[in-house]
Amino acid sequence: MNKETKKHKSHRPEAGSFDLNTLKRRAWRYLQPEDNIIDTLSSEQISLLYSGLLASLIISALLAAILAAVQSLVLAPEPVTIWVTSMGMVLLGRGILLIVWRYSSSKYDPSSADLWLNLFRIGAIATGVIWGIGGILLSLTDDPAHKIYVSFVLAGLSAGAAATLFIDRVSFIGYLLAVLIPQIIFLAYEGTPISFGMSIMDTLFLFFILSSTLKLNHHIEENFHLRKQATDNELRLHQMLESSPIAASITDAVSHEVVFANKSYSSLLDTTPQEVIGLIPSGYYAPKVYRDITEKLRKGESITNKLVELQSPGDKGWTKWVLASYFPLEYQDKPAILGWLYDITERKLMEDKIKYMAYHDILTGLPNRSQITAHLKEAIINADREDSVVALIFLDLDKFKYVNDEYGHQIGDLLLRAAAQRIDRCLRKSDLVARVGGDEFVILLPSIKARKYALEIAEKIRHTLSQPFLIEGVTLDISASIGVAIYPEDADEEQKLIKQADTAMYYAKSEGRNCVKSYPQTLRREKS
Ligand code: GH3
Ligand code: MG
Repeated sequence: MNKETKKHKSHRPEAGSFDLNTLKRRAWRYLQPEDNIIDTLSSEQISLLYSGLLASLIISALLAAILAAVQSLVLAPEPVTIWVTSMGMVLLGRGILLIVWRYSSSKYDPSSADLWLNLFRIGAIATGVIWGIGGILLSLTDDPAHKIYVSFVLAGLSAGAAATLFIDRVSFIGYLLAVLIPQIIFLAYEGTPISFGMSIMDTLFLFFILSSTLKLNHHIEENFHLRKQATDNELRLHQMLESSPIAASITDAVSHEVVFANKSYSSLLDTTPQEVIGLIPSGYYAPKVYRDITEKLRKGESITNKLVELQSPGDKGWTKWVLASYFPLEYQDKPAILGWLYDITERKLMEDKIKYMAYHDILTGLPNRSQITAHLKEAIINADREDSVVALIFLDLDKFKYVNDEYGHQIGDLLLRAAAQRIDRCLRKSDLVARVGGDEFVILLPSIKARKYALEIAEKIRHTLSQPFLIEGVTLDISASIGVAIYPEDADEEQKLIKQADTAMYYAKSEGRNCVKSYPQTLRREKS
């Protein structure tokens, strides 16, 4: 196992930086699952409106000053002064609003988005109204050139404002109508052919600028909508993953760092939700398994329901089993891997236990009849191939019932275990001993050269079992009757071999117990 499991601090956005990811992170902080990300996007919209405000205030102030200076040549000073003062106050008010917004900590807070937007709209429409009043007040002259000048200033101003206010429909419609409608009506009422013509021109201009600004606005709203959908989908994916009882993680496909993990994942790896971010999980996998998984994913393939063993890389020493699925995906514009790990440790342990019980004797821990039968089949196939012989030894303890009757079942059990150990110690690694009944054992010697070696081992076992056992302070003297049969000499197939070994063992019993008998001796007795 690779023990290197690095931890990295997550990168924080710079203070004051502004991008969609920052917004998403803020959204995570602010939004409850049922809240809508459109709130966050409207924060971005508001930010765009406010970011263009300073330039439009400066241009408005300059235009107002120039217009007032030009018109004061043909007008009485009072209306010009009143208008310039009103415009100055409105612009000052909007300037103060801009300063407050810049230094406000709640500007990204979706709950105060409506307030900031409405304040902006009020300021924009108020400016439009002052310009609209100016369009009448500063046109009250008989000089047609000055009238035309006012009209051109308002038209130019409207075009410029449309370019910055198109982000918000209410602001630009309110502004344009407030600026141009009073002019249009005033010029229409003047009654001269020139003013009437100018009124119609202004009306056409208003329609043209409104329709093109509405189109622009439609595009930006569509753009917001698509981004909202994308962000919503991402949020939904996060929520789904977060609440899943199955461990889920997203890791960077290049650095392999965990960039997202749900609670089930951090508890699966026995870490905290804070520690798991930035962790490289390779240390929990066998190196080859991890390499194979990443290799497949690099080729763009998915992996489903792969049985994977996870081991703690530290000194905690646990092993868990998971059904793992991995899918390549894009996460925050980077290639990433989504992993689902279904913890089946309990099921796996249970299955292992059931499998163990199917092939082992619970009391002694030795293989049982099923296992030795399977091994015997294999040994016979090998013996045929290699021209060797297989020995099967049947062993039954003598007068074992007496131990049970005299000292109790518990002592009997302990004696069976001790006998099993002694038998096992007489064998090589390739040999196998199984407990197949109460006090019955079968020993398989899968590859021996000749019968005499099997008889030697059987004799060794008989001898070791005839030595006294000390169990729970009680000295027990027992013995065993042992029968030996050899494949292919005594039997040409497995069932026959079992039968012959059993026959030899019963012969040993009948011959006074505590002895080893080979199957041919049985035959000789039958003949005699
Ligand atoms: P023999 O010399 O003819 O083999 O006689 P024996 O007394 O050994 O009796 P036998 O082999 O016919 O029977 C084995 C006895 O082992 C029967 C039963 O009382 C006992 N036995 C079977 N399974 C267990 C076990 O799991 N634990 C204990 N303590 N005794 C068992
Ligand atoms: Mg017995």
